[in-house]
Amino acid sequence: MSAGPLPVRTRAAVAATRAVNGLSRRARAGHGTVAGGRVGLALDPLLLERLAAGRLTALVSGTNGKTTTTRLLAVAIEGALGPAAINATGSNMPAGHVTALAAAPQGAPAVLEVDEGYLPRLVASLGPEVVVLLNLSRDQLDRTSEVRMVASKWRRALSASPATVPVANADDPLVAWAASGAANPVWVGAGLSWREDAVGCPSCEGRISFAAGEDGGWACACGFSRPPLDVRIDGDDVVLADGRRLRVALALPGRFNRANAVMAAAAAVAMGAGCEDAVRRIGEVDEVAGRFAVVGVAGCAARVMLAKNPAGWRELLDLVCPGERPVVVGINARVADGRDPSWLWDVPFERLRGRTVVATGERCRDLAVRLHYAEVPHRTVRDEVAAVRAAWMAGRATAATGPGARRAPPHAAATAEGPVDFIGNYTAFTDLMARATRTGA
Ligand SMILES: [Zn+2]
Repeated sequence: MSAGPLPVRTRAAVAATRAVNGLSRRARAGHGTVAGGRVGLALDPLLLERLAAGRLTALVSGTNGKTTTTRLLAVAIEGALGPAAINATGSNMPAGHVTALAAAPQGAPAVLEVDEGYLPRLVASLGPEVVVLLNLSRDQLDRTSEVRMVASKWRRALSASPATVPVANADDPLVAWAASGAANPVWVGAGLSWREDAVGCPSCEGRISFAAGEDGGWACACGFSRPPLDVRIDGDDVVLADGRRLRVALALPGRFNRANAVMAAAAAVAMGAGCEDAVRRIGEVDEVAGRFAVVGVAGCAARVMLAKNPAGWRELLDLVCPGERPVVVGINARVADGRDPSWLWDVPFERLRGRTVVATGERCRDLAVRLHYAEVPHRTVRDEVAAVRAAWMAGRATAATGPGARRAPPHAAATAEGPVDFIGNYTAFTDLMARATRTGA
């Protein structure tokens, strides 16, 4: 769709979108991220296409890392292209996209997080310049498509959109399968620690062999193998195809955030930013949508983290283990989380052995059974705030009387006296955040 003056109907829909979102914010009925978009789309079903026309657009999708990568990419291109329209709070379906675009000046670039299932239709209808494909793994077993089916739909959509450049994680065979249907993919070595959904070859249904290490490549006997990399992450360095290394001084923790950073840097270059500038700007982001923030909870401090599925949980358990802080793990099973919590059995909770652990959330008893079989002693406290408080008190008791108390000077006990680590799935995380206060720590 070509850019130009918006039709009257569209201008009315944009005005309605903004007005409803303004009212919604003032009524504290939400962040105004979806309601206005829904009204706008009801008034003009082509509103999203019209608002996106004439913008340089990147869509970001995958099972994990969407919200963070979207933010990093928007920051990375700001120097070269100016502020981008972005759906920063994770409202990743068309109503959220409409809201983001309606709030931004016409012509500003757009960086939009997109639900995996919606990506094919948005690639077809928006014709984005860049699509960032992060990873695919099991998620919300009761309501989302099987990942192999998602990969096939992505592949068909990208094959039919030759002008779109996929920036794809070559270390994920399902993502590589999807992007190899496109004309000019950019292949990124971002690593993949969760491989349980990627062992079957999407090309021949044979078995994929992975080399040792998270970034060692993979291949199937049929010839389908990891494509040659254009850019990769190596420790804290982004390594370009010509061998140049750029240090990412990333403020966000964890291997998975280094993966998100290299994906964002490669996408920023594909959109026209300079690599050095993009990498430098990415290093300045220290928090995304509250994740990894230290918050106050009933007089205690907690570092809050969100994990929605087995791959995400594994990454966060890698991040917090080994360590000494008490850990609170919270599970709900509402619609937004997926009603089926059987995925708990895919998460390596065994890594929490030896830690002070409190299970919380509406499904804390399912979690307690899982922790029991993982041989992780724990307490079960259903209320999240009470659970953080219980972990906090237990951490202080350990710091005062535990094995480290005698040999360590008083200040060294800070490892257990610092914030507790809270890892929750979606609504467990948002519920705690709604009851927390920012400490700015
Ligand atoms: Zn094969």
